[in-house]
Order: sequence, then C-alpha cells, then structure tokens
Amino acid sequence: MPRQIAPSDIDPTAIGEVSAPPFVRLPDPTRLFVRRAQRLNALAEIHELGPYLRFLAALADVQHGIQDGLPDPDLPETEARERAHAFAMPPLARDRFASEALVETLDRLILAASAIEKPRAAADALDRLKLAAPPVRDAMVHNVLADAVAADALAEHVYVAAALQLHFARLAACLDASTLVPVGDGACPVCGGPPVSSMIVGWHGSHGARFCACSLCGTFWNYVRIKCTLCGSTKGIGYLEVEGGPGTVKAETCDSCGCYVKILHQHKDPALDPVADDVATLGLDLLVRESGYRRGSFNPFLVGY
Ligand SMILES: [Zn+2]
Ligand SMILES: [Zn+2]
Repeated sequence: MPRQIAPSDIDPTAIGEVSAPPFVRLPDPTRLFVRRAQRLNALAEIHELGPYLRFLAALADVQHGIQDGLPDPDLPETEARERAHAFAMPPLARDRFASEALVETLDRLILAASAIEKPRAAADALDRLKLAAPPVRDAMVHNVLADAVAADALAEHVYVAAALQLHFARLAACLDASTLVPVGDGACPVCGGPPVSSMIVGWHGSHGARFCACSLCGTFWNYVRIKCTLCGSTKGIGYLEVEGGPGTVKAETCDSCGCYVKILHQHKDPALDPVADDVATLGLDLLVRESGYRRGSFNPFLVGY
C-alpha cells in the first residue's frame, strides 16, 4: 500500500533558507547527459530494471558523446522570440518544428547507439529505425513533441526522444534566461512541454525551492510548493510514497485534475535526476495508480507503465 503523507509533513519550511531562486535554470548539455548516465548506472546496481537502466545510461553517454562537431542548432529568429516573449509563449515552439541540425543529430545517435549493449527489444527497434524513411522519422519526431507515443512503438521512439532531448537542450542553452517568462501552469517556459517531475533542490542560492523539470529541453523552472504542477490547483494536494523507501521520491497527487507528478527531494540526495529517477521509481507509479490517480507527466523512457 502507498503511504499517505500530509502536505505539512513534506514541507520542512526551508523557506528561510531560500535566498532568491531564479525563475529558470537553463540546461548545460555538456554536463546534463554525463551526470544522467552516472545516475542511471548507479541506480542500475541494485535494481530489478538493471539491464534497462544500464541501456539508458549508455544512451545518455551517446547523447553526450555525439555533441562534438554537431552543426549549431537553429534558434528561431530574434523577432519570433521577442513576439513569443510579448505574448507569454515559449520561444521554442514545438508545433512549428523542423530542423536540419536535428536530422544530423538523429543520424549520429542511431550510428553511435548501434555499438551499445541493449535489450533485445531495443536492438530490434533500432534496426527498424535505421530502415525508416525520412517521412516516418519525421512523424516519430512529431509524436514525441506532442507527448503522444503509441504504447506499441515506445521502443523506436526512445532513440528519437534521446535525439530530441539533445537537440532541444542545445537550443535551450543558447537562450538568455532573463528573457523567459511563465507561460502557464504545467508548461516549460522554453518549449511548452509538461514537467517530467519536480525537485526540491539543494542548489546554492535556491536551497529548499521547488523547480519543475522539462523532459525534453532539460530546463528547470521555479514553481511554488504544494501546488499541482499540471493544473495549478492548491486544493486537494496530497503526497504518496512507497513504504520503507528512502523517502526522496514521492508522488504529488491532485484531486482537482486527478493526476500526479513525482516530486524529488534533491536537497536530500544531490545525485537525483528528474528523468533517471522517474524511470527508476516505476514501482511508485504502479502503487499510485491503484489509488486512482493518472500519471500527468511525460517520460519517453518510462516503459512498462
Ligand atoms: Zn522544455
Ligand atoms: Zn492538478
């Protein structure tokens, strides 16, 4: 049974420690995937999903290793970004997305991923992806950007999602954080996507503040605590966790929209990663689902859910 926790238990009132958290923290693609690979490998050590987590770690190493010499990502024109700012829209619009640099990124990722050890299903999926014609690959790109991947095609989309994460992290890293504005509850201020999870961070200058993490571009955005990261409701928020666990990952449930998003206590364990630890806590998803809440976040690497 999941353990029910009152909101008052989860908020250690670390508010006094918060100096002035920035609104966003943009990703550093030269560090993001290396750290994620380390975390996934560490999680794989004593985990029933060990082989899959090790595969994702190797894929994160590929995301890191193919960056050298990639063409510069094509940022939207300044005028378009200024217009997005004026209308509180994300500067990297997913619905009008097309990119030469992404084609190269995906080609390189497919090539490099051929060499890594992987589960049988992942190897078969990579073979199918290699043979996929450009329009088929384009359709897969749009599936990931729409957070709409069919359950029976998840394995192929893992590689496409990995290429998109790298591409969008490189794009996001080119932006000026001071020009970004909130674009609405549950939406990344850079690319408009939903959070993969949120984290109470131990970062210098932001200790105890909560940030939502984008599964696509890797941006973190500041978000008040005890508030649904999807619909913005502050009523009917609860927390569930696996009994006997380390207490660093909980599900924040919302009675208004009926969904939940995981909340990671990174201030207690600095190694926590919003994508890796989401995958590694699949057991929490299964428990929370029994309580009637739906998963509200998107993680293309979470299979078997
Ligand atoms: Zn984003
Ligand atoms: Zn909600």
